[in-house]
Amino acid sequence: MRDETKVVVAGRDPSKQYGAVNPPVVHASTIIHPTLDALDAANAARARDEQAIVYGRSGTPTSFSFENAVAALEGGHRTYAVPSGLAAVTVAMLAFLKTGDHVLMVDTVYGPTRKLCEGFLKKMGVETTYYLPEIGSDIAGLMKPNTKVVYVEAPGSLTFEMQDIPAIAAAAKAKGATVIMDNTWASPLYFKPFTKGVDVSVQAATKYIVGHSDAMLGTVTATKEAWPMVRDCARELGYGVGPDDLYLGQRGFRTLAVRLPQHWKTGIELATWLKARPEVIGVFHPALPDDPGHAIWKRDFLGASGLFAVELEATPRHAMAAMLDNLHHFGMGFSWGGFESLVVWQHPEVYRTARPWDAKRILLRFHAGLENIEDLKEDLEAGFERRKKALGAGKAAAD
Ligand SMILES: *Cc1c(COP(=O)(O)O)cnc(C)c1O
Repeated sequence: MRDETKVVVAGRDPSKQYGAVNPPVVHASTIIHPTLDALDAANAARARDEQAIVYGRSGTPTSFSFENAVAALEGGHRTYAVPSGLAAVTVAMLAFLKTGDHVLMVDTVYGPTRKLCEGFLKKMGVETTYYLPEIGSDIAGLMKPNTKVVYVEAPGSLTFEMQDIPAIAAAAKAKGATVIMDNTWASPLYFKPFTKGVDVSVQAATKYIVGHSDAMLGTVTATKEAWPMVRDCARELGYGVGPDDLYLGQRGFRTLAVRLPQHWKTGIELATWLKARPEVIGVFHPALPDDPGHAIWKRDFLGASGLFAVELEATPRHAMAAMLDNLHHFGMGFSWGGFESLVVWQHPEVYRTARPWDAKRILLRFHAGLENIEDLKEDLEAGFERRKKALGAGKAAAD
C-alpha cells in the first residue's frame, strides 16, 4: 500500500464501529467486564501486549485507532500517544536512561528538549554532551562507555541544519546506544526513520498531524526491540490522552498527504521569494538547492514541510515591530503545522552551546500555510515597506 492510501485507511475498521467511517470517541475510565473470565482474559491479553480494552488509561478504541495509523505511516512496530510533543520526547528519553548515563544531543535540538536535559535529566544524574548537527560518523569519537542515547533532530529547530542520520545511527548502534529522533518537521509522511537506523521516533503531533492548531498531542513510535521500554515508560508515567484530542489527531491525519505537498510548495516559493529580497541575508531551508544540507535532504527525505527561517539585515526592535505588528496573514505565535501562516522572531542564542549564535543576528521563522501565495507575498511586501519607513524615521531622528 502506498503512503497516500495508508493515510486514508490505516487504523480504521468501519465493521468494528457500527459502519461509521471514523473511530468512535470513547470517553472512558472504567471498562465493565461482564464476568470474572472476561476480566482475566482482558488482563491476560494486555499482558501479551495485545490492544485490549481494560481500563481508560491503558487504551481505548480511540487511542488504538490513532496509534495504529501513525505506526503504519511512520513504519514502526507500535506507537504510544501522549499529551504533547514534549511529553513524547520525555517518554522516549526516560525509557532508556538512568542515573550515571550519558546522552549525545544535537546542539540544534528543540529548545524545551534541551531544558529537559539541563533540568530533570541533570537532576537525575544523566550527563548531556551537545554535538554539531553535521558531525556524521565522527560522532563515534564522542561516544563514551556510558552513552545510552544518541538523539537526532533533522532539520534542526530554528536554523534547519540537516543530519546524516544513517551514519550517526550506525556509529551509535556499534556502541549499543539507542537512537532517538525528533521527526516532527518531516512528519511520518516525508521521513521514514526506521529505514535509516532510528530506534525511537518522536512526533509533536500537535504540528502537522493535528494540522489545524486546535489540539496538543505527541506520539512515540518504536521498533519491535525498543517498544517494550517505550510502552512501559509511558505506562509508568501515567500518560494518557483525552479522546477528543485523539479524535482531532486522527481527523487531521486523514488529510496529511494532501496538506503537506501544499505546505511544501508554498514554503519553497516563499523562501525563494524572500531570498531575492535585499533585506534578507540568508535563508535556512534544506530543500533549496544551495542549502548546505540539501544533498542529505535529497538523499534521505521524501519531501519538505512548510517551516523554514530567514536571516534579516541588522534591524532595530522598533523597525521589526513595524514590520511584524500589522501583518494580516502571518500570525505571530508558537507552534506550527496548522493551515495558517505564521512568523516568529526567534532567538537561537538562548539555546546553543556547541556553536553559539550571535544574539545580534535577526532570525525570522516562517510557517507557510495554505493561503494563496500572492496574498502572502503582498502581506510581507507591505511589512518590508513598514520596516523601511521605520528605519528612515529612526535615521531622520538621529540626523
Ligand atoms: C513543537 C515541537 C515539539 C513539542 O511539541 P508540543 O506538542 O508543543 O509539546 C517537539 N519537537 C519539535 C521539533 C517541535 O517543533
